[in-house]
Formats: sequence, structure tokens, C-alpha cells
Amino acid sequence: MSESKGLVLVVEDEKTIADVLRMYLSREGFGVHVATDGAAGLAAAKQLRPVAIILDVGLPIMDGTEVCRELRTSGDWTPILFCTARDDEVDRILGLEMGGDDYITKPFSPREVVARVKSILRRSSGRIDGAAELEIGEVILNQDTRRVALSGGEISLTATEFDLLAYLMSRPGRVFSRDELLSHVWGYESVVGTRTVDVHVAQLRAKFGDHDPIRTVRGVGYSVDKV
Ligand code: CA
Repeated sequence: MSESKGLVLVVEDEKTIADVLRMYLSREGFGVHVATDGAAGLAAAKQLRPVAIILDVGLPIMDGTEVCRELRTSGDWTPILFCTARDDEVDRILGLEMGGDDYITKPFSPREVVARVKSILRRSSGRIDGAAELEIGEVILNQDTRRVALSGGEISLTATEFDLLAYLMSRPGRVFSRDELLSHVWGYESVVGTRTVDVHVAQLRAKFGDHDPIRTVRGVGYSVDKV
């Protein structure tokens, strides 16, 4: 394989799932490393510096949420796609302390997983049109450095949180529906449901606390006010 698109770390204890993901991701030009328990996954993430991580929630030794929390705590913001067999885990997975970028529920189609990986990679590397630096009140967002400052201090955001905020800030005053945000920020149709958007907005809000720049427009969606 020449021209690798980068290494994807798959942390999955079910061999058949890991094998099929390896096959599909390799075919798309990604390098693939499989770890079969949480501790091995965490070690591989630190050592191999993958471009993205597909992380099963239910894992031996250390579960997926624990792996993610450890990585985020150590300042590692590699995009993470969670796989879960339980729909009721979604809020917790995408929740503030966890810092996952997206999730997919089992059973999934491997094609869909590959599409999601590409989508989170596009998000974490791309930038929307317009000025490199967007400023709303005390919030300054730089699309080149992908850093966000609030009153001079830095706020750590996941790739998804960053892109969501950048998109809202690029058009202050414009109200976006959840479906619009899903298609523009996440890059796919609303098959995942709009809860994803709400959960990520809630995370952003919690990070900004009293300086939360996002306004909820009931029954419509979200916007960032012009200042
Ligand atoms: Ca599992």
C-alpha cells in the first residue's frame, strides 16, 4: 500500500468485527492497527499516533469510555468514533467529560464506519471558507491553528466541537436547523438523528460556561448572535 491516508486504530475485542473493519479501511487506503482490549488500545494510541480511533465501548481490562477519558485528560484530541451496542449510552459517550467525536451503533455496516471515519477526518483537517480568524465578543476562533480563545485563555475543543462552533460563527445571526448543521458540519444526512447536534451544543456550552456564545432558537435550531 503506497500513499497511506494515515493509520486508523481499531480498538475492538470481537475478532470478526475487527477483521472486517481492517479489510474495509485498508481497501480505502488507511493503515490499520487493531488492539483487542482497552489498555492495549490506550498504549497503541499513545505510541502510534493514529489519525483516528474507532473505539468499542465494551472492552476487556479498560472500557472504551475510560480509554477516551484517559486520552483527553492527557491532551490527546485524536478524533474518536465510538461503537456501541447500546443506544442508551449515546449521551454519556458524547458527553462533556468523554470527548468522543461521533458514534455508531452495532450492528453497523462497515461501509458506514468508513464513511464516518472519512467524515471526522475531513472535519478535523478542513476549514470552512472565510477569514482564518473569527471573532464574536470575547471568543476568538482561529481556523488555521484550530485554537479557540475566550478572554485570552484557551478552550480545548474536540474536532467536532470546533467545526460546529466555526460553522455557527462564520455566519453570525443566521439560525441553522439541526439538519443543516448535520449535513454541513458532520457531512452526512440526518440518519444519526439530531440528538448528536444537541449533545455537542450542550458540550460546547458547558465549556464556555457563562460566556456561551450559542443561542437556541426554539423549534428552529441554533445560532451565534452578532455582537
Ligand atoms: Ca466489545
